[in-house]
Amino acid sequence: MGIVSVSMPEDLLKKIDELVEVHDYSGRSEVFREAGRKLIREFQDQSLENRELIAIVTALFPYDSRAVETKMTELRHTHADAVRSNSHSCICDDRGCVETFIIEGDLTDVSEFVRDVEATNEDVQVEYSLFPVDSIQQPTL
Ligand SMILES: [Zn+2]
Repeated sequence: MGIVSVSMPEDLLKKIDELVEVHDYSGRSEVFREAGRKLIREFQDQSLENRELIAIVTALFPYDSRAVETKMTELRHTHADAVRSNSHSCICDDRGCVETFIIEGDLTDVSEFVRDVEATNEDVQVEYSLFPVDSIQQPTL
């Protein structure tokens, strides 16, 4: 593994150290590695422009959050053109719920959907994966 020296403002470094403490990172290096990976992923997203995409969007939220579940239903309807499927799963012992959406559209469609899910409220954690439709391999038989 390479070692680098980075200069940065004291207030930014202080916030990084708070992340290490609050989110239980092994140290500053782990925070910088994760930030780098996220940045690379964001730039890679630019290569997805003008391509048809499939996205798997997952939202995790507290059990029996009626307002969140109502919002998930609204999103399914307002993005009906892009939503290919949607499912709800309750985590055992009422520890939470998972809403999964399969979205088909261009990068704008997917970004708008993800942003709307993220905007539900601060209780909702959102993750997504993207696959360009043109990357699907044709059968060799
Ligand atoms: Zn549930």
